[in-house]
Amino acid sequence: KQCAGCGGKIIDRFLLHAMDRYWHTGCLKCSCCQAQLGELGTSCFTKSGMILCKRDYIRLFGSTGTCAACSQAIPASEFVMKAQGNVYHVHCFTCVTCHSRLVPGDRYGIINGSLICEHDFP
Ligand SMILES: [Zn+2]
Ligand SMILES: [Zn+2]
Ligand SMILES: [Zn+2]
Ligand SMILES: [Zn+2]
Repeated sequence: KQCAGCGGKIIDRFLLHAMDRYWHTGCLKCSCCQAQLGELGTSCFTKSGMILCKRDYIRLFGSTGTCAACSQAIPASEFVMKAQGNVYHVHCFTCVTCHSRLVPGDRYGIINGSLICEHDFP
């Protein structure tokens, strides 16, 4: 058997089988933090050719939720704005009427999930 990580032969007694390939125990590493994922019980994830530990996977591809303004998922790596139980992209946290960026401390109202600055609030 050939190791999918280094291409070398695997002569270990135990074959580590992950993601339909075989690995040396030391060759299955997180592409981000280089943590060894070969230990039993360590979950690993793959995404766009990268092998990632759970922590990095969630950091890079996990999502915080769905933006209440544009309905797109918000990656966990992005900052979010929160208001009344809704989450928003920072760039979506704007007044629907005049499109001015709202910042924490600004006074605004929310109508059906849409943000309205205090000048445009009815
Ligand atoms: Zn190897
Ligand atoms: Zn990692
Ligand atoms: Zn958004
Ligand atoms: Zn406004």
